[in-house]
Order: sequence, then C-alpha cells, then structure tokens
Amino acid sequence: MRHNRIGEKIKAIRATLPQGVTLIAVSKYHPTEAVQAAYDAGQRDFGESKAQDLTAKYEALPKDIKWHFIGHLQTNKVKYIAPFVHLIHSIDSYKLLCEVNRQGAKAGRKIPCLLQIHIAQEETKFGFTPGECKEMLAQGLWRELENIELHGIMCMASNTDNLVQIHAEFAGAQQLFNEIKEKHFQSDEKFCIISAGMSDDHPIAIEHGSTHIRLGSTIFCE
Ligand SMILES: *Cc1c(COP(=O)(O)O)cnc(C)c1O
Repeated sequence: MRHNRIGEKIKAIRATLPQGVTLIAVSKYHPTEAVQAAYDAGQRDFGESKAQDLTAKYEALPKDIKWHFIGHLQTNKVKYIAPFVHLIHSIDSYKLLCEVNRQGAKAGRKIPCLLQIHIAQEETKFGFTPGECKEMLAQGLWRELENIELHGIMCMASNTDNLVQIHAEFAGAQQLFNEIKEKHFQSDEKFCIISAGMSDDHPIAIEHGSTHIRLGSTIFCE
C-alpha cells in the first residue's frame, strides 16, 4: 500500500486509544519501507513474529525502535534477538524462559518477558493454560532467573465472530492477570502489562484491561 497512507492510519488509530494503551505496529510480512513510513509518523513500537525478520529489520532501521517479539520462539533462535529485543511477548514454556535468561546473561542484560496464556478455543495457539501458568509461578524457580523480568501476560482470543466468546476470553485473561499480580507481583511495579487485542478485536481487549495492542493488517494492508 502507499506508504503515506500508513502514517495516516497510525495517527487515526492513536486518536481512538485511551491513555496508557501502547500501540504495537505488527510489521511482519511488510518491508522495511513500510516500517520506515510508520516510524516517520512517530511510531516507535513494532512487532515481528520471526527471529530472522526481527534481526534483519533491527539492523536496517533506526536504533530507537522498540522491537517486540510476538511469535512462537524456538529456543535455538533466542540468541539472535537477545541483545536488542525490547519485550518478548510469547514465553510459552519454562524451558524457553530459562534459555532467554541464559542469553540475557550472555548479552549482559535483563530481558523483559510476558507469559503467553492460551485462552482461545483453537488448538493451534501456543501458550500456558491458566493452570500451567499458575503452577509454574507457584513453583517459584523463575525467581532465580536473574536475566529475565516478567512484565505481564499476552494472549490471543479465538478467531470468531462470536462477540460473547471474545469478551469472555479477554475477561478471563484479565482475571488471571489480577490473580497472578496479587499473588506473586504485588510489590513489583513492572508487572503491569496485558498484551491483548489485534486488528479485529482490540476495542474489546481494551475494555478488559489490555495495555498493549498488536495491530498488523489494519495498519499495513488496504
Ligand atoms: C500477526 C499477529 C498480530 C497482528 O494481527 P492483525 O490481525 O494483522 O492485526 C498480533 N499478534 C500476533 C501474535 C500476531 O502473530
């Protein structure tokens, strides 16, 4: 699409967002020129779902971009993004969290992470079930990982027209966030992120406390 339209769309979306909601422009499948057009309109948070693409765009584009990793992350790819990634949204196993910690230590930094929670009906989506997430946190081993920080949760609702179901899924995620926050992160100000909502469902996600929305097609496609 014409790149000046990208800037217009970003500005129009921003105008609809309540204060405190961060817009992440999901630039996967789109060229660096499209990212640059969004950047020129003031956008700084971008999301990618493949480690190779994230690394290539990081190298090609301005260094004050905050790069969010939002896709399924294989443990053998963590090393490529560890030095610069702003936030990993898609921690879906304790094993992956340990590898991020290891690569964070090598890179000499603490890497901010979100726990991906499986709330959708679809079987194909990755993530901890709410039960697995609570169990992992209760076990407490993660507290010894000095090169990661847990900043909240990420989730995706079912891809459906059933609004009642979408509301219920996002409400469930918010409830889980509140429960975890109270139990394990009460005095940790950094645990404050609910990354929920995509192009089609972000208004509903925001109603249920989403702080970070991840929009791709509505920004970058006609
Ligand atoms: C692709 C993707 C998005 C953006 O989806 P759109 O429907 O294009 O807004 C958001 N989150 C994740 C995890 C994605 O993979």
